[in-house]
Amino acid sequence: MTERLLIRAPRLFDAISDKVQASRYLVVEDGLIAATGAQSELAECADDTFDRTLSLEPDTTVLPGLINMHTHLSFSALPTMFADAVSESDEFKLIRIVANMGAAVCAGVTTVRDCGTWPRLMMPARAAAEQGLVRGPRIIASGAITTTGGHCWYCSTEADSEDEVRKAVRTHIKDGVDFIKLFATGGNVTPGSDALVTQFTQAEMCAATQEARKGGRRTAAHAHGIDGVRNAIAARVTTIEHCSFQTETGIGWDDAMVDEIVDAGIYVCPTVFRGTAKLTADPNYTFNEREQLFLTRRQQRIKLTARLAERDVMLVSGNDAGVPHCRVEDFPGDLVATVQECGLSPLAVIQSATSVAAQALGRTDIGQLARGKAADILTVRGNPLEDIRDLERTEKVIVRGLVV
Ligand SMILES: [Zn+2]
Repeated sequence: MTERLLIRAPRLFDAISDKVQASRYLVVEDGLIAATGAQSELAECADDTFDRTLSLEPDTTVLPGLINMHTHLSFSALPTMFADAVSESDEFKLIRIVANMGAAVCAGVTTVRDCGTWPRLMMPARAAAEQGLVRGPRIIASGAITTTGGHCWYCSTEADSEDEVRKAVRTHIKDGVDFIKLFATGGNVTPGSDALVTQFTQAEMCAATQEARKGGRRTAAHAHGIDGVRNAIAARVTTIEHCSFQTETGIGWDDAMVDEIVDAGIYVCPTVFRGTAKLTADPNYTFNEREQLFLTRRQQRIKLTARLAERDVMLVSGNDAGVPHCRVEDFPGDLVATVQECGLSPLAVIQSATSVAAQALGRTDIGQLARGKAADILTVRGNPLEDIRDLERTEKVIVRGLVV
């Protein structure tokens, strides 16, 4: 029997109701929330009946731990990310993964969906966190599939036909992955790859999602170019990553495609993150061509995200941690940027990183604070539902019922 912990929450956002409630309590036991209610319902000497009471300052909000829906825990987050990814040993990458797991929980992230790291590295990392061997978030691990020499070939299985794609999906499921990541188009962090160009045919994408469904796995498709977005929609993936609708001349917004995303219940993870944009405050920093392109496309992505939200597309948040200038601990700040720059409400953005993210994962046990749910909890000073910047004022983080 583990310790019984009482949390007296001055303010609670449970992500079930869309309101912040005052003076609530939570009881944590065996990694789960055993009870919750109004503090007025607690007996007078309630605290004595628990092994421990978490004392929080009066100006504190308790909310579900954050879910980062798009990470690459093995990537270096340095400008040399690609060179690092192809030259570092597996052993070194595993050390980085463990370091990033610690950094993620310290920032209030209690679940990460990793969108591209070899299963041979992620399976032991996931197990080590589950067993309490290392401090870390829950890991939702991918098996990534790309075309030969395609985007992220250095962390993906390469497949070039419907049969090969099916085999790759089956092999990843055999490896024990939680979901399948498909690179529908090229990307920006692989030399020689063009983000506008499709990689898989629509038939190959459909073969992959069909095979994944047979294995009970959800799917995520990386898609920048508009044709890749179209293929991802046709294949009925669970989530579209980036979903940039990119054409040679900018964003190729298409009402019919957006309607289809909504009707099909596909989630979009627009990966709004600051990345290189953090350096615009430094007058001495000169941006190279690649970074200039990132800044231009980021502005397009911000406008696009606002439009997707207006059209009621189900948005989930992920910051693509691991790519240059983007770390796992930057995630709360990137959520702040999503509110400030895309004009989304703090409520919508917090839901995109808690309850809605959990829905997209098909996980009813996380992302909300209620009796029987996982005790994955974040406490921050202030009230992030009113001022989103308070999301960066992390006080306590609890994962699987254990205070970090
Ligand atoms: Zn990514």
